[in-house]
Amino acid sequence: MEEPNRHLADTLRALRRDRNWSLDRAAAETGVSKAMLGQIERGESSPTVATLWKIASGFHTSLSTFLEPAPEAHAGPLVRRAEALRLRPAGEGMLVAPLFPFESRFGFEVFELTLLPGYERRSEPHEAGVTEHVLVVRGAMEVLVEGEWVALKASEAVRFAADRPHGYRNPGTEPVVFHNLIHYPRRWG
Ligand code: MN
Repeated sequence: MEEPNRHLADTLRALRRDRNWSLDRAAAETGVSKAMLGQIERGESSPTVATLWKIASGFHTSLSTFLEPAPEAHAGPLVRRAEALRLRPAGEGMLVAPLFPFESRFGFEVFELTLLPGYERRSEPHEAGVTEHVLVVRGAMEVLVEGEWVALKASEAVRFAADRPHGYRNPGTEPVVFHNLIHYPRRWG
C-alpha cells in the first residue's frame, strides 16, 4: 500500500472506531458509498479531493487529517517545505501540499495549492462555519465566491464563507500557486 493511502486507510478506520460507526452509518453521514469507504479502508482507492471533503465533513474533521499525520504538538518553530510535501490527488489538475496540517489548538490548516493551466475545481459547501482565506503567491487565478468569479493575482487575497458553493480556476497557461488557510469553527481533533 502506498504511504498516503495507508495513512488514509488507518485514519478512516480509526475515526469510524472512535465513533462506533458501521460502514452503513459512515456512508449515510458522509454521502460516500459504503463500497467506496470499504475500498479506502483497504487502501484500494485513491479518492479525489471532493470525496475527501465529503468524508471530512461527515466526520466533522479537517481535510488535512486524511493527508498526513498531525505534527507533534510542541512549542518550537515548525519548518515545512512544500517541495517535499506536494501530492497530486487522483483525477485532479491540482497539487496539494499540507504546509500546516490541522491542529485542534489552532483550529485551522494551511495548504499550498498549485492549479495547472486550464484547471477548474468547483467545491461543494463545506461544513457550517468553515472559512477559507485564499492568498495568491504566483500567477493569476479566479475564485468563485457568492456566484461571481473574482480575479486575483500574486499578493492579492480573498476570504469567504466556504459553507456555500465556491470554486477555483486557472484560466491561464502557467501554473498558479496559492495558499489556502482553512479555519474550522470548532476545535475538532
Ligand atoms: Mn473549499
